[in-house]
Amino acid sequence: MPMSPSPLPMAEDAGAILTIDLDALVANWRYLATHTTARQAAAVVKADAYGLGAAQVVPALVVAGCRLFFVAHLAEALAIRPLLPDGAQVAVLNGLMPSAEPACAAANVLPVLNSPDQARRWQAHAQALGRPLPAMLQLDIGMARLGLSLDQAGAMAADSAFAQMVPLQAVLGHLACADDPADPANAAQLAAFRAGAVLFPGVPRSLANSAASLNDARFHGDILRPGLALYGAQPVTDARHPIRPVISLQARVIQTRDVIDGTGAGYGLTWRADGPRRLATLAVGYADGWPRSLSERGAAWWNGHDLPIAGRVSMDSTIIDITALPLEALRAGDLVELIGPHRPIEQVAAQAGTIAYEILTGLGHRYTRRYLPLAVPNPQEIAA
Ligand SMILES: *Cc1c(COP(=O)(O)O)cnc(C)c1O
Repeated sequence: MPMSPSPLPMAEDAGAILTIDLDALVANWRYLATHTTARQAAAVVKADAYGLGAAQVVPALVVAGCRLFFVAHLAEALAIRPLLPDGAQVAVLNGLMPSAEPACAAANVLPVLNSPDQARRWQAHAQALGRPLPAMLQLDIGMARLGLSLDQAGAMAADSAFAQMVPLQAVLGHLACADDPADPANAAQLAAFRAGAVLFPGVPRSLANSAASLNDARFHGDILRPGLALYGAQPVTDARHPIRPVISLQARVIQTRDVIDGTGAGYGLTWRADGPRRLATLAVGYADGWPRSLSERGAAWWNGHDLPIAGRVSMDSTIIDITALPLEALRAGDLVELIGPHRPIEQVAAQAGTIAYEILTGLGHRYTRRYLPLAVPNPQEIAA
């Protein structure tokens, strides 16, 4: 877990302000929970809720009614376990590491069993404790990353001692190309998933990440596993789903200066003024997760203007060209938008040569974080 954000950020002191709209996040989860054919929408909150802060995100989703959470590591599961009410569960996607059985069982965490060895170790631990230990089982349906082959799954399914000691809460598969609905791999993976899932009759099926959850009901199964869409980024290339943006990032101007024709700016002096120019230096850099690959490619936005990044992004600062603005319009202390309504995260990611996932999970801990609270919940939710 990162440092907890100060409850009352001193916005005047902040180099950059990361605003996280918990109400939008919850609205995105509700949209998935109600606009798909799945029985349940889980929430993937690995990597500190994609960089947004599991300590804030998980309780907001609990209030909204989410009762199943996925993380990557056991340590992440142990960190959020105390935030969960009775009956809520957390499952570990990366599986059951050797000798993690006691900690996993003691904390009532569900391992996602990804190999026969993991399945056998969990079964043996259940036998040692003398009580069944629930788990999930993942099939490798054609990504060669995690999970059992069809043959291995068949062997587990045929083993009644395993079924008795390890009641399966879900059978999982994962799609490699869900962000491109036209990719033929999707249909092949769906067929492979169905062929494995029928071996476990009555066990809920979970296949869909954000993209598949928003795309095509054939992939929904019983339990959705969205991550990215909850955090406000569009998961499907070239599609706009009704997902509300969740984060915005503003950086403060530290200095402005006028430079003459030919002046170099930033490390390596890769940028040269082609005529008299006006520059502003922002208090954000690659140490904050603002990608160095945005050097000379990205822009900030202020008051109707896109202000291009001039030269290389430094560790703690970024220079922008503000020549387009009226003189003295932008001053030290002012905030410019780096991610937000005029600089959508998908666009920033594309300019940085990466994906929104990497921008989110890279968000730095030097930002002043401002969490916009949930709208007042309705009485039923308070009762729940
Ligand atoms: C990260 C992850 C998800 C969530 O994917 P998104 O594309 O962020 O919705 C779902 N399932 C598995 C196995 C994952 O690793």
